[in-house]
Amino acid sequence: MAGPLPTLDELDAAGRRVLVRADLNVPLDDGRVTDDLRLEASLPTIRTLREAGARVVLMSHLGRPKGQVRDDLRLAPVAARLSELLGAPVAAASDITGDDAHRIVDGLSDGDVAVLENLRFDPGETANDKGFAAALAELGDAYVDDAFGAVHRAHASVVGVPSILQPAVAGQLLQTEVETLSRLLDEPEEPFVAILGGAKVSDKLGVIDNLLERVDHLLIGGAMCFTFLKAGGADVGGSRVEEDQLDTVTGLIERAGDRLHLPVDIVAAAAFEADAEHRTVQADAVPGGWMGLDIGPHTIDAFTGVIATARTLVWNGPMGVFEWDAFAAGTRGVAEAVAACDGFTVIGGGDSAAAVRSMGYADRVGHISTGGGASLEFLEGVDLPGIAALRRA
Ligand code: ADP
Ligand code: MG
Repeated sequence: MAGPLPTLDELDAAGRRVLVRADLNVPLDDGRVTDDLRLEASLPTIRTLREAGARVVLMSHLGRPKGQVRDDLRLAPVAARLSELLGAPVAAASDITGDDAHRIVDGLSDGDVAVLENLRFDPGETANDKGFAAALAELGDAYVDDAFGAVHRAHASVVGVPSILQPAVAGQLLQTEVETLSRLLDEPEEPFVAILGGAKVSDKLGVIDNLLERVDHLLIGGAMCFTFLKAGGADVGGSRVEEDQLDTVTGLIERAGDRLHLPVDIVAAAAFEADAEHRTVQADAVPGGWMGLDIGPHTIDAFTGVIATARTLVWNGPMGVFEWDAFAAGTRGVAEAVAACDGFTVIGGGDSAAAVRSMGYADRVGHISTGGGASLEFLEGVDLPGIAALRRA
């Protein structure tokens, strides 16, 4: 880390073309944006820049076009929706760094907004190609990174551009994410409770490893709890276990000692299906052929008790297959407990964030991270390339 994170406060934007890496990667259905969340999260920085008199040039990826132009992944419909939310015109270029982009950017007046075409139409974006980064940099006089969801990627628009184009600073969304997640790692107020769940223990080992010395309580649910339970000698039946992680997990169990809280009961199903026959069983005795798809009611009670004591809390990963009603109670119960907690609460992880939102608890949580992968890597303690690039610039 070469220095503090530079922010919009340090940018004199008036009359300048400000090239903003935003995260406009929203779901589209038949040319219509079906979820505004990321667009709304981008508005504060766009508004601040407009008020400062900047000519705002937005750039983003959308989906995975893999270096090819795809008409269904053009940013024009996203620009149209952004314009509605912003209450101002947003011009959409039909190319990234070509004639149309230059024509539109040259035509901007102070306070105007334009969007370049999908960055990933060019293979140079994910390859962090120097020439592509230089061509992007020509479209701005200053750079702002506000795409927290992309800072863990060493792509041209994330690390290449700020190495060429300065000043390079963090936008408001990125700044908030970094400040909030840093609060979890740097001297969190105690008790500090971490709740981890989700699909794969191997995805979350880095986070567990980095949080373990910091937390007072580590609650484990989701599919990953079965690797922990099995490592502790439990019969987990046909539940999902990552056999190759059993040794690592055994080491984590020893290190965690009595700070580790595993489920005491499990909702087990006869098949991996939404309407499968299911019942609550002891966590150490899942019948052969049955698989655990949620934490049980006694576990929800126990976890709720621990969560209520937290002054600082982070949650990543659902407690069960919350997409299916029969296995959503654990995730709902933990969401309710987190919402009721008086401490500083943070949710990271795409699926956990979606679950908390769809269950209606979002406005009672301190912070919901907009970056799934990025928030995980941040909590692993990794120096993220996009953030490092700003600190160097
Ligand atoms: P996040 O995006 O919040 O980090 P993950 O991507 O790691 O979370 O995991 C989310 C997925 O984990 C969900 O689709 C959910 O259905 C699945 N899952 C949770 N518990 C189980 C389980 N016991 N068995 C199988 N899948 C599970
Ligand atoms: Mg996920």
